[in-house]
Amino acid sequence: MKYSNPFKTGSVYISQTYHSGGDNKYAVDFGSKPVGSSVYAMADGVIDATNSKAGSYCRLAVNNSDQKIYYVHVYKYLPQGTKVKKGQKICEVAPKSLNGGYAPHLHLGLQGNYKLMDYMDRSVVFRTNYPGITKEWFKNGNFNWDLHEDLSYSNAPSYKGGDGLEILNQMNIRDANFKDIGDAAKGSVCKVLSFYKSNGEDDYYHVEFADTTGYMADTAFNEKTQKEITNLDGSEPVNECEELRKQVAALELKLQDIEKELEKKDTEIERLKKYENFYNELSKCLVVKEV
Ligand SMILES: [Zn+2]
Repeated sequence: MKYSNPFKTGSVYISQTYHSGGDNKYAVDFGSKPVGSSVYAMADGVIDATNSKAGSYCRLAVNNSDQKIYYVHVYKYLPQGTKVKKGQKICEVAPKSLNGGYAPHLHLGLQGNYKLMDYMDRSVVFRTNYPGITKEWFKNGNFNWDLHEDLSYSNAPSYKGGDGLEILNQMNIRDANFKDIGDAAKGSVCKVLSFYKSNGEDDYYHVEFADTTGYMADTAFNEKTQKEITNLDGSEPVNECEELRKQVAALELKLQDIEKELEKKDTEIERLKKYENFYNELSKCLVVKEV
């Protein structure tokens, strides 16, 4: 799958080639769009972050991928958590007063070291008037795709039974009918039992936490891990063997105390027996005297 035109239609004007914008290392600027121009989801996903500061941005976590797209210098974005479809409007180009003080433009970058142009749909027409950009990224008046890799953004995590998954963002867990049964907390760890069930929108994995099993949508929010599974809330599962061992140890201590008590009683009994003997002897003497 390739990323579609962020403006949906028309050519896209490049005003700056690769530059870093925080944790999107290879971002591109697209200028010449007036304030309020609609900006669209380039892939199916979820708006997983918004920020009215830091240049004013929203971020699209792409479905079945670990990629996240930063849409920066935008406003009127959809709220965090909104699921969107490719081509759906998600925000607008922000005015200078809100975008950190820049001439209105769209800064678009993939989180991490992914290079945006490697994943763009090659039917998108790019243009520029900047001589430097023309020289760098264009050939005979056309965007030079040869300079970029032709990659698919879809690198759906292919989990298999037995994989451990750490939840990187709170996840909704559902029963076999896709009804909510709870949230898996960030940092909790589950084991994949099997792929999958689909409700037509998302693919689900059957997963096991220490305290429950359920179905979890396959999103970019999980990471393979070797860690031990936890409860849904991320807490350590109760280890029954360990619990029993502790109980046995406590009982053994109690038993030792009881044995000490018994020893004391034995000593006491010995002492009493001596008294008894003495008393018996004394009684005999008394009997003799009476006779
Ligand atoms: Zn930029």
